Amino acid sequence: MTGWEYAKGLHPVKEGVYAYLVPPGLWGNSNCGLIVDGGESLVVDTRYDLELTGEMLKSMETVPGAVPVNYLVNTHIDGDHIFGNQLLKDAEIIASKTCTKEFKTEITPQGYAEILENAPNLGKFGQYFIQTFSQFHFEGIDMTPPTRSFENRMELKIGNKEINLIEVGPAHTKGDSMVYIPGDKVLFAGDVVISTGAPVSWEGPLDSMIKALDLILSLDVEVLVPGHGPLGDKSAAQKNKDYWEYTAGEAIKFYDQGMPAVEAAERISATGRYRSEQQAILNIINIHMLYRDISGDQTPPDKPGIFGQIAEMVIPD
Ligand SMILES: [Zn+2]
Repeated sequence: MTGWEYAKGLHPVKEGVYAYLVPPGLWGNSNCGLIVDGGESLVVDTRYDLELTGEMLKSMETVPGAVPVNYLVNTHIDGDHIFGNQLLKDAEIIASKTCTKEFKTEITPQGYAEILENAPNLGKFGQYFIQTFSQFHFEGIDMTPPTRSFENRMELKIGNKEINLIEVGPAHTKGDSMVYIPGDKVLFAGDVVISTGAPVSWEGPLDSMIKALDLILSLDVEVLVPGHGPLGDKSAAQKNKDYWEYTAGEAIKFYDQGMPAVEAAERISATGRYRSEQQAILNIINIHMLYRDISGDQTPPDKPGIFGQIAEMVIPD
């Protein structure tokens, strides 16, 4: 769908349904949502730090019936979708069971703060970490995990609006879920759909990601709010699917030639269909995922190692 404005802030997309957009949609510029009806409210995701989440909640307060917030849904574990939870600690916080477990295993705000502090000693890795994350404030954040978790599907009512929570992980992370409002034909897809540059998945597997996108394509959706990037419709999911199919085809070719993942990513970024700098960055993450997928490697992705390869590419000598 065209004509949606991609400007920072709260945008009404249907009666009582709002998207909170944060351009340009790169690292940490994540979108959120607000659903309000009959004096009840639900927020989809929080932001990377308390300041940014506070700013978002302030804009939501202008919507009658939005506060106090009754429910917060976390679509997945990444910090740019959960680190502001503490400001909604009085709400019922809901996530998939898998995502809830990851609150104990994934990097904490303190983890980011420590790396940032040590970053000047970490070469290009450190420089890129500073460049990417020093704009956020990770000190003083309490990890605030979900108070309720679900598997597969969960139904909820906000006033008269029926809300479906749909678990689709593993896709972008292990425990992704989406928030669907069938009556309004609105889908908050979390990072299963990213509409700026390329989509990204550390974990895979690819099959499961494609299954999630196919599910979106089967739903009745007029407005799709991606985890990052401008508002769209189902064509955003189709575009992500096209990317995955194309990139997976290239990855198999290079894997069979014995080419290391990082070189394959460089090759695809230089000559392939998806060529912006952001895509080159995400291609490195995605090719590692696809290689692990092809080889049947079950070990978790080496996130610091992969981030280091991105830093090598981005930071000049
Ligand atoms: Zn994200």
